[in-house]
Amino acid sequence: MNHIAHWIGGAERAGESGRVGPVFNPATGSQIASVDLASADEVAAAVAVAKEAAKHWREASLSKRSAVLFKFRELLAANAGELAKIVTTEHGKVLADAAGEVARGLENVEFATGIPHLMKGSFSEQAATGVDVYSIRQPLGVVAGITPFNFPAMVPLWMCATAIAAGNAFVLKPSEKDPSASLFLARLWKEAGLPDGVFTVVHGDKEAVDALLTHPDIAAVSFVGSTPIAKYIYETGTAHGKRVQALGGAKNHMIVLPDAELDAAADAAISAGYGAAGERCMAISVVVAVGDIADPLVEAIAARLPKIKIGDGADPDSEMGPLISAQHRDKVAGYIEAGASEGAKIIADGRDISEKPGFFLGATLLDNVTPSMTVYTDEIFGPVLSIVRVGTYAEAVELVNNNEYGNGTAIFTRDGGAARQFQFDVNAGMVGVNVPIPVPVAYYSFGGWKASLFGDTHMYGPDGIHFFTRSKVVTSRWPDPGTSAIDLGFPQTR
Ligand code: NAD
Repeated sequence: MNHIAHWIGGAERAGESGRVGPVFNPATGSQIASVDLASADEVAAAVAVAKEAAKHWREASLSKRSAVLFKFRELLAANAGELAKIVTTEHGKVLADAAGEVARGLENVEFATGIPHLMKGSFSEQAATGVDVYSIRQPLGVVAGITPFNFPAMVPLWMCATAIAAGNAFVLKPSEKDPSASLFLARLWKEAGLPDGVFTVVHGDKEAVDALLTHPDIAAVSFVGSTPIAKYIYETGTAHGKRVQALGGAKNHMIVLPDAELDAAADAAISAGYGAAGERCMAISVVVAVGDIADPLVEAIAARLPKIKIGDGADPDSEMGPLISAQHRDKVAGYIEAGASEGAKIIADGRDISEKPGFFLGATLLDNVTPSMTVYTDEIFGPVLSIVRVGTYAEAVELVNNNEYGNGTAIFTRDGGAARQFQFDVNAGMVGVNVPIPVPVAYYSFGGWKASLFGDTHMYGPDGIHFFTRSKVVTSRWPDPGTSAIDLGFPQTR
């Protein structure tokens, strides 16, 4: 069985804690590897190596850093297929989807190659007589990323590309459920010429996370995961003086207005509801059918469901793979039961296929869902799509705005005015207009509102640069010594 070690100082390092976790192939249900789980001492040792590396890396010129990023970009593009296979094996998502995740991660590397431009400060000549003022951005030192199971390649790339380009050393604590992608990235970074210690991987669970959150040499923590853990990370990290951005869970609504193009809306609901078996923070989990489009929309979605090809993600014919674990599959199945007992109408029941080996659950559609049901209130993170029927646009917006989460949302309509009003009214960080999964391109930033994000900055793009750097403002004067005089008054611009 495969053994997955840490990556410290530019090489694999076997764990010494004596604790390991199992890694499964969700399509077969078999354990395929064990991963080392770091102790607090092992995390501290890794941070010490990263701290030493950070000192030198921040001295590397912008062109040198940019050259490493360009090389990393080339290697990642050349090896994208292999990385996608690793993601499929441990996560379960189908190959095409895994390739999509790698491609979106690659965009963040491409963005970060522009670091010489992105690190530019500003300069004001003659802010006062003979005085110039300028701002510079500097790296923070050692920063950490803690990432979820559902995007084992893309989310680490969201963080590390900008963090490293900005001159930091980056310590990644990936999900212990699918840890191999992180090591693959580590090897590519090394091959790209990144100095040893600038990219580190420590595997682990709560013990490793807590060690990072409390370590005095970790300056910032970037987190993506579920809301309860995101809140914990934010509170603990900030209490220990760190800069923290913690992205949490979601309940993304897709509003379908009566004038929407029916087939396009049904296709979008299927793609965004069941892609990656619903294990996406930007998955659509609630379709809000407004007015008399509800019946035909439910019919159109239901008609498409039997055509979804469910199977091993490694099979190129599969469109939807398994869930991450047996426990998670059972939890999601429990929500279908709860929905039925709370009065939702089961149009399609994914439990029908769950005798397959592996952690499979079929596509499930629930109609007549109301806001008090647990299938509505909770993030399910599985292939379960709920239909909520409302009478008006105003009711639809109220529903989204009253929801605890505010990650993504979308509106489907042919009315440009309604779409514009929606963009104005809705309380969510990412909005799609006839686009069901509005993940921003790399040169914008990604982040939700409300319980979907704790912190002030969004992830990657311009916010990512902001998060991984701090600004310094320099006020300078080169006076003629003959003009020197004592002045105890507060400095004024003259
Ligand atoms: P999770 O919160 O269980 O785990 C995320 C990370 O936190 C992992 O590295 C894990 O090891 C660590 N962790 C877990 N429990 C911990 C604890 N008690 N103390 C300290 N650390 C702990 O999330 P997950 O199940 O891996 O991922 C799915 C969740 O992530 C979903 O809720 C999904 O919506 C969310 N997610 C959000 C975004 C976003 O951008 N907002 C993106 C992807 C996933």
